[in-house]
Amino acid sequence: AISPPEIAVKERPKLKELDGYVGFANLPNQVYRKAVKKGFEFTLMVVGESGLGKSTLINSMFLTEIYNSTDYPGPTQRLKKTVAVETTKVLLKENGVNLLLTMVDTPGFGDAVDNSNCWVPVIEYIESKYEDYLNAEARVTRKQIPDQRVHCCLYFIQPSGHGLKSLDIEFMKRLCDKVNIIPVVAKADTLTPDECILFKKQILNEIAQNKIKIYEFPDTLEDDEEHKLNKSLRERVPFAVVGSNVVIETEGKKTRGRKYPWGIAEVENLEHCDFIALRNMVIRTHLQDLKDVTNNVHYENYRCRKLAGLGVDGKPTRISNKNPLAQMDEEKREHDLKMKKMEAEMEQVFEMKVREKKQKLKDSEAELTRRHEATKKSLEQQAKELEDKRKQFEMEKEDWERENQVTVEELRRRSLEGSRE
Ligand code: GDP
Repeated sequence: AISPPEIAVKERPKLKELDGYVGFANLPNQVYRKAVKKGFEFTLMVVGESGLGKSTLINSMFLTEIYNSTDYPGPTQRLKKTVAVETTKVLLKENGVNLLLTMVDTPGFGDAVDNSNCWVPVIEYIESKYEDYLNAEARVTRKQIPDQRVHCCLYFIQPSGHGLKSLDIEFMKRLCDKVNIIPVVAKADTLTPDECILFKKQILNEIAQNKIKIYEFPDTLEDDEEHKLNKSLRERVPFAVVGSNVVIETEGKKTRGRKYPWGIAEVENLEHCDFIALRNMVIRTHLQDLKDVTNNVHYENYRCRKLAGLGVDGKPTRISNKNPLAQMDEEKREHDLKMKKMEAEMEQVFEMKVREKKQKLKDSEAELTRRHEATKKSLEQQAKELEDKRKQFEMEKEDWERENQVTVEELRRRSLEGSRE
């Protein structure tokens, strides 16, 4: 047997100071430049009943009309009996950095009288994107696979003050192992601060009770200040948000907000709502993490399920999760059994055919004998008739000869006499 080559690995690398500047300190800049040149892709999905302010919030988040009134005609006109999945692509530019944003909307979600299974089109969409990615990875040339996978799903909760609806629970339960779910309380300006705190607690309790795993913001940033800020932002989950596409000017200050007779609900004010916390986390600090979790956890789960031959629901499909040799053995055994069964069936069919043929032969033989007998009988009959006729004829001949004998002899004698004369 060949022994493996011995590789001497020194556990701890020696720290060496360089005498001068070599240049690999520039590596991060290379990565940065390459990333900027390539641009970024991000897919954000919004799910929730119509009229919860999804499009308004997205427009507020990106400070532009991602959804405008022409291609996004407002909730009442968008009402559909079935859930559809619609995508909108926009290329956003900020300080020379390109972000290709794909917005995925699910008009009709939760709007029907019977909302059972309305998460199915959403799951199908998410999984179809994983499937596309998996197929692209399996191709021979797999440079620069476009990433269409859904990186984040903002789930809009109605500000009812009564916790989650069963549809919310069902949806999050079924999707939390497939996509990063970030729950948001919609139209938070309709709740008082106390109601909002209580509502958030209720929601978190129900999420925990139902073992729903929503997206967890990791604490990877070492910077102390940022760590503190992130912690305070994270504590605001589920984010209670207010959306507005109107800029209001008060005391010379311009703010995005909703103006009421009793005051202004400022969208970008952390004392009024969590909009800024949500936007900062999703776009500024955790966009890459959302993509990483999608790739390393959700896509990996999908890939495992798919490659292990498990269906979408986690139940095994035709191929089972076994080692390939055992799998081949089993398939061979199955094949042999199938062949034997087919052989037995063919033999049965063959025997039946032979039996049928034999019976047919017997029948035709009997028929032939019957016909032969009939012909024989008729021939015998004919022969008998002929014999009778012959006898009759003989008798008639004899009678005739007897009657005519004298005449014949007389004639003969006369002719003899004549010749003598
Ligand atoms: P979508 O169907 O979920 O996309 O909802 P829209 O964004 O079209 O908003 C539906 C209605 O709710 C519109 O009249 C918005 O002006 C209003 N709206 C949006 N966001 C908020 C919010 O945060 N608070 C309140 N009170 N109303 C909002």
